[in-house]
Parts: sequence; structure tokens; C-alpha cells
Amino acid sequence: MAGSQFAYVRNFELPDPVLPNVYMVVRIDGKGFHRFSDAHDFAKPNDGRALELMNEAARHVVQALKPDVVLAFGESDEYSFLLRRSCSLYKRRASKILTQIVSLFTSAYVFCWSEIMGKQEELKYPPTFDGRLVAYPTAKEIRDYFAWRQADTHINNLYNTTFWALVHADNADGLGERRAHETLKGTVSSEKNEILFSRFGINYDKLEPMFRKGTTIVWGESTPEEEADAEEDAAAGAGEGPMKSQEKEKGNRSRGAPELRTLHVDIIGKEFWTAPSEQPGR
Ligand code: ATP
Ligand code: ATP
Ligand code: MG
Ligand code: MG
Ligand code: MG
Ligand code: MG
Repeated sequence: MAGSQFAYVRNFELPDPVLPNVYMVVRIDGKGFHRFSDAHDFAKPNDGRALELMNEAARHVVQALKPDVVLAFGESDEYSFLLRRSCSLYKRRASKILTQIVSLFTSAYVFCWSEIMGKQEELKYPPTFDGRLVAYPTAKEIRDYFAWRQADTHINNLYNTTFWALVHADNADGLGERRAHETLKGTVSSEKNEILFSRFGINYDKLEPMFRKGTTIVWGESTPEEEADAEEDAAAGAGEGPMKSQEKEKGNRSRGAPELRTLHVDIIGKEFWTAPSEQPGR
């Protein structure tokens, strides 16, 4: 057989299967996005378009790995993908699953860049993402994992919102960022809420849910109200952009078919995991 003299090198490839019947979570995170977001003039603290781009890249992953990816959660420059326990993708080889998800996410991010960020928004250098795959034995760890990520979303967003409010109010002398850090050092949540409210008239709880709660993508059925809304939008030709075009699609689909739902809701509480329409992680 051709190459048989060389084929022994194959034996150096060690197997890396994930234990059968456990949940797998893949989390990807943008490399050096502090710099990347500066270089591309992301709005601070939250650039809504940049988050939509992350969401769209995540939807590509969830669609492509259907039905194995049952839920995805994203915030900032990261996304977590939950794979069902029965997943047999690549015979559960960890490196194959991980690299497939990181690679697809990254290429989708670039592929969708100009559509979402706007044609005039030049991509200045190739963004990259790292990834890790972690196995979890029970639903409890899965719920706690996503609670951990969403709690992180909240903590970071409260800090960043207060930080940038202070900076934007105080940047005339160029000392804004350092002073803002100093002002916030050692403050607890209630103090940050108080600064936001008393100094800037910002009610934190009224800020966009996507910023406060991150984005959760699940398979589910839309409610009749949502179907009606989507049909109305489609009929009116309303809205451009990725979210709206997704919504429009709904109108053409058969009722009751599972479809991707993009939510900005609390996933820390038990209710989310037991709601009949979501049923992630089965
Ligand atoms: P690392 O390579 O270690 O991940 P990093 O620079 O990407 O480093 P992170 O801890 O991942 O650091 O944080 C990502 C940073 O990217 C945030 O702190 C924020 O500055 C920026 N960022 C990401 N998404 C957005 C967004 N939608 N709007 C504004 N800034 C963003
Ligand atoms: P898998 O997902 O298992 O890797 P695959 O379809 O990518 O499946 P490979 O064994 O990786 O299969 O082979 C790649 C195939 O892609 C080649 O067999 C060939 O048909 C095609 N291909 C790749 N590069 C070229 C190229 N430059 N010109 C023509 N065909 C190419
Ligand atoms: Mg990091
Ligand atoms: Mg990062
Ligand atoms: Mg990050
Ligand atoms: Mg190939």
C-alpha cells in the first residue's frame, strides 16, 4: 500500500474522546478584543452591532451543528455552546469538535462583518478566537455554568456602564479613565447603581436587556403572537439587518416547526430551564 512505510506516524495521534453521555460546553473568546474593539471603534461600554455580529456568528454554529448544539449563550467577545449528552459528532473527539466550532464561528464572524457592521466599516486585521471544551456530568453543573457566565455579564456590564459614564463625563482633561478606575475601586454593586442614578440619571435596570443579560440562543417554537408580529413585519417590508431578516423568515416557515430563538432573558433562575418551550440540555 502506498505510503505504508510512513504510515506508522499515525500512531502518534493520540485519541482524545470525551466521556460518553456527559454534557459538553465549548466556550470561545476573542483574542485581544480590548485592542480589536479599539481598532474598530466599538462604542463603549457596549457596541450593539458588534454584539449582533457575535450573535449571528453563533447562530451559524447552532444551525450547522443541529441538532447537537442545544443552547448558546454570549456576552462581550465570548460565546458558550452546549452540546447534548448524546452528541456523537466526530465520535466525540474533543479536538475535532472544538476546532470545528472555533473555526466556523470565526469564519462566520468575518463572513458577516460588513453586512452587520456596515459596508463602510473596514475590517482592519483578521480577528481570532480561542476555545476550550469542558465536560460536565449533570444538569446541575450545566445550570450553574450558565448562571456563572450570566452573573459575569451582569458584573462586567454594571462596572463598564458606570466606568464609561464617568469617563464620558470627565474626559476633558484626559485623566478620565484613571480617575474613573480610582472612583470605582472597591465599590459594591449598590454603590455603582447609586452613582449611575444620582450622577447620570441612569436607571440600570432600564438599560437594554442584551447588555444586562447577554444573549441566549435556543431551539423553540414561536408563540402565535410572535408569528403574527413576524408576518406583519414581513408584509410591511419592515426593518433591515440580520435580526430583522431572521424575524422576517419566521413568517414563511411552517407553524410549530422548531426554530432558532434569540433571547435576552434571565437564565440563572430555575424557571428558564423548566419552561416547556425551551427545554435546553435534554
Ligand atoms: P484575551 O485575549 O485574554 O481574551 P481580551 O482583550 O479579548 O483579552 P477580554 O477579557 O476577553 O479581553 O475582554 C474583551 C474586551 O473586548 C472587553 O473588555 C471590551 O473592552 C471589548 N469588547 C468586546 N465586545 C465588545 C462590544 N460589543 N462593545 C464594546 N467593547 C467590546
Ligand atoms: P472531511 O470533512 O472528513 O475532511 P473532506 O471532504 O474535506 O472531508 P478530505 O479527505 O479532507 O475530505 O479531502 C479534501 C478533498 O477536497 C479532496 O479529496 C479534494 O476532493 C478536495 N480538494 C481540496 N483541495 C483541493 C484543491 N486545491 N483542488 C481540488 N480539490 C481539492
Ligand atoms: Mg479573556
Ligand atoms: Mg477576549
Ligand atoms: Mg472575553
Ligand atoms: Mg477535509
